Amino acid sequence: MSKRLHNLSKFNLPTVNESLVILFILAVGLIALNLPKPAKNHIVGEQKHYTQKPSAVINKPAVTTGKPPKVNVTPSNNPVPPIVGGLAPVISTIPTQEPVVFLGIDDGANKQQFELTMMQQNNIKASLFLANIFIKDNPQFFAQFQTEGSIIENHSLNHLIPFNHLSYSEQVSEICGQADLEQQEFGVRPTLFRPPGGSYNVDTQRAAATCGMKAVVLWIAKANGGSMQYQIGKGLRPGDIVLMHFRPEFQSDLQAFINAQNAAGLHTELLENWLK
Ligand SMILES: [Zn+2]
Repeated sequence: MSKRLHNLSKFNLPTVNESLVILFILAVGLIALNLPKPAKNHIVGEQKHYTQKPSAVINKPAVTTGKPPKVNVTPSNNPVPPIVGGLAPVISTIPTQEPVVFLGIDDGANKQQFELTMMQQNNIKASLFLANIFIKDNPQFFAQFQTEGSIIENHSLNHLIPFNHLSYSEQVSEICGQADLEQQEFGVRPTLFRPPGGSYNVDTQRAAATCGMKAVVLWIAKANGGSMQYQIGKGLRPGDIVLMHFRPEFQSDLQAFINAQNAAGLHTELLENWLK
């Protein structure tokens, strides 16, 4: 301690020249303190003049509800196609020119903590189309993804393939059963249904609507075996819905998706935010 004090006194005592400089600065400061009354009044006047502006600023974030703050994209005005004649619409892409893609991750068989971490690190939220047969050993694993902003969706109870070979009542049982179960397990009822294997028929559309689903969601590209596969073209396009799975290849699949997203100048949005 004494050594430190010694050092302070040794190095901090101002010289005569330094003292003059300090006095000069103090003097200028004292003068400045007495000067700014007109300027102060001017600022107050301006604040009064712009009383409307703060309320406009406060209202602004409400317009971008649910959007990641770093990207300034507003969901396009394309609401989900309506349920017509008791049939839920089938969608595999969203009609938009905004630089966005959508990711659905299916089944839920592979449950490893790094999957959550990798999505967090890459700021990716997805629709998780889960089937009870794959998640029943540890459904709460997926509650963590829900906490991080992903949304739990419906992929049927037992993942029976081909799904469109089931009767209407069997499809209702599979879709409503999973919706009820997810509502109990995760506290939110799903609104989207993805048929196992992607096969569907009119009964699927009718059963989905009966169970309260807003749409039957397919895909137009997939991340599979560590690479991307496209139904159209050679890259992701705005509005594409991408399929992935909770599989052992999760890391290489998600990386392939992220690379494709970046190469196309797109970023991932939640499908649910664009299907209001
Ligand atoms: Zn599946």
